Amino acid sequence: MGARMTETPEPMGRLAKGLAAAALFALAATTSGCTQNQALGRDQLILVSNDQLATLADGTWQRTLQQQGVVHDADYDAQLDRVAGRIVTAAGRGGETWNFAVIHDDSLNAFALPGNKIGVNSGMMKFVQNDDQLAAVIGHEVGHVMARHSAERYSQQLLGQVGLDLANAALAANNTPMADQIAAVLGAGVNYGVILPFSRKQELEADTLGLQYMARAGYDPHQAVDFWRRMMAQSNGQPPEFMSTHPSDQARIANLQAQIRRMGL
Ligand SMILES: [Zn+2]
Repeated sequence: MGARMTETPEPMGRLAKGLAAAALFALAATTSGCTQNQALGRDQLILVSNDQLATLADGTWQRTLQQQGVVHDADYDAQLDRVAGRIVTAAGRGGETWNFAVIHDDSLNAFALPGNKIGVNSGMMKFVQNDDQLAAVIGHEVGHVMARHSAERYSQQLLGQVGLDLANAALAANNTPMADQIAAVLGAGVNYGVILPFSRKQELEADTLGLQYMARAGYDPHQAVDFWRRMMAQSNGQPPEFMSTHPSDQARIANLQAQIRRMGL
């Protein structure tokens, strides 16, 4: 799926382009290119280090929490802690620091940022019918993190014009329009009206990883199929945001069912 941006980057001056090129060169010089992702078992083009990405993601995360607001509901917090704890342990990353938050937003959405940060909208917390369905959402988002999909998309963007803007933004981190673009590329852009979806391939990979984590954590993977069917039923002409950034269709359901059969469940 191609990039859809609601904002067109401003043309940059020669100085800005020079700076951007220098930043891009610095990024490329300090990080390796193609790396093997163990969770996925395939090579990825990664032009940015975990530390660099985590720094950008931290700003995006803080901004999202500030602008959208965090819901402090004892039941939601307990459910999120309970489910997220089991999923990240199942993913083999239980020993790391993770940030989870219920974002004040009625739309059906959730997002993952590099640096182990996952936001679930209050609308989504209300929508899921049980821990297993929330585990499907969290498993999918943790899957994006494990697969380093943001780093991959960021690296792809670095190779284009948007990438030059982003590299430039690294030199002026407080530049608000640039911060919106960074948010879009990292995966939280839906909160700013800028939507840059993951590719279909990345979505299916996140689904597959999420199912594995669910099963390993003791949740029922069949609930993931129920969850996505319910999401599809919500889309009467106007798909929920989680589906516009997380394309959902029969192919996705078929992939989930095939994975469940493969796991013998
Ligand atoms: Zn996704």
